[in-house]
Amino acid sequence: MRESKVNIVGAGLAGALLATLLARRGFTVNVFEKRSDPRLSAPESGRSINLALASRGIRALERAGLMEQVYPILNAVRGRMVHELGRPPAFLPYGQRAHEVIYSAGRAALNRLLIEAAASHDNVHLRFGQACVGVDAANDRLCFSDVESDQEYDFALAPTIAADGGGSAVRGALAKQGLIAEREELLDHDYKELTLPPVEGGYALDPKALHIWPRGGFMFIALPNPDLSFTATLFLAREGLHSFAALKSPQDVQSFFEQNFPDVVPLIPRLVEEFNSHPQARLGTVHAAPWHISGQVLLLGDAAHAMVPFHGQGMNAAFEDCAFIDELLDRHDDWAKLFADFEEQRRPHAAAIAQMALENYIEMRDTVRDPAFARQKALALELERMFPNRFIPRYSMVMFHPEISYGEALRRGELQGEILQTLDLRRMTDGQLDSALASKLVRERLPGFATAKDPSFRTTD
Ligand SMILES: Cc1cc2nc3c(=O)[nH]c(=O)nc-3n(C[C@H](O)[C@H](O)[C@H](O)COP(=O)(O)OP(=O)(O)OC[C@H]3O[C@@H](n4cnc5c(N)ncnc54)[C@H](O)[C@@H]3O)c2cc1C
Repeated sequence: MRESKVNIVGAGLAGALLATLLARRGFTVNVFEKRSDPRLSAPESGRSINLALASRGIRALERAGLMEQVYPILNAVRGRMVHELGRPPAFLPYGQRAHEVIYSAGRAALNRLLIEAAASHDNVHLRFGQACVGVDAANDRLCFSDVESDQEYDFALAPTIAADGGGSAVRGALAKQGLIAEREELLDHDYKELTLPPVEGGYALDPKALHIWPRGGFMFIALPNPDLSFTATLFLAREGLHSFAALKSPQDVQSFFEQNFPDVVPLIPRLVEEFNSHPQARLGTVHAAPWHISGQVLLLGDAAHAMVPFHGQGMNAAFEDCAFIDELLDRHDDWAKLFADFEEQRRPHAAAIAQMALENYIEMRDTVRDPAFARQKALALELERMFPNRFIPRYSMVMFHPEISYGEALRRGELQGEILQTLDLRRMTDGQLDSALASKLVRERLPGFATAKDPSFRTTD
């Protein structure tokens, strides 16, 4: 019989959602979180304040019955507003159907809401200020330290789900014992967050867009918050000509922004002050294997597969992990089998989104400026209208189609990329789209999706 008690390490985004999903199934859930209770304290500033929530995350939140509570803290974002130097901003919609939007969510507000939802279940025991400091798999113990008193104690390990983020202590402890291999592939670019406060009681920029200032080797982005501010992020190399290391003095910072983002400077009144006081944080991809130790421990979310943030999918993938555990509970009565099945089925998709997230960095900071990119984006939307049951742009598959797995989105995306290149080249020569060739390539190479056709498109499919 399956153990009716479950430990979760980490009450971040995934841990808190998973606690609710497990509680709804009647499990007794012990959640250990090293931070203090966020319901009682102000959020930390200067660290990843807002996140893009898309359909995979929404589907998981719906599964937990939480979307109604979450909607009021979201801002709908319809596309990218690209700010090139010396040109007017250009808007590139994310999709072409009314519902194809992503949502900007405040991390602190969302985390608090998920913790409140978990706490509303009598069978969830939330323990804040408790840091996991070790795992003794051989003796089935999970070790903690009380952050205030420094007192150490341990707890029965099996079954434990580690949702303790990219720097997972659980993963680290298992790696030390040789039970897991882990590797973090660091990007040579770091990030720093800055604030664009409201201007005359309104947003400083259009709040229906994610704003991007692509500059080739680096970029600046801004996402709206419900309080009329924007959280902006500078992604820049650690070392080199254009780098954080090169921005030594307040004057360096001011000139760098005036030279590269002149339209942004008047919108950040505390530019130098925030730049100097906000942390410069690292970005990377976590590779870990295996993700589980028999039925004792499973890594989930960033603890298993942290990725760079350029597809806005880390949290969405972590929420999808939680929903998948919930789904597997219908199929398995044994944690060892469930953990093994989770890892086997989920690993290829985690690898696929980690790869797409890295590719998206190049797209956001560089390719988005290439005229061929804009042409092929427009062509992809055209093909989607012509063949809605076969051709869906890769970005849309990832963001708006949770029924298409990450692995499938990556695979079809590659085929679609080849079709787009062929048709774009032909159109550059002939001056028009070769519809017969488009139909041949799409029908031959892209099998139809099982989903119903969208009646909002005129279709030749
Ligand atoms: C700059 C940036 C922008 C991002 N933007 C997006 C986005 O737009 N969309 C998106 O989907 N994703 C985004 N992400 C990724 C997203 O933040 C993560 O994928 C997501 O937070 C993963 O959730 P998690 O619950 O696995 O980990 P976390 O949210 O990191 O939660 C881990 C929890 O474990 C706790 N913990 C850590 N160590 C211990 C310990 N030893 N003992 C007990 N508790 C512990 C932590 O305090 C924390 O509460 C972004 C990330 C970054 C860095």
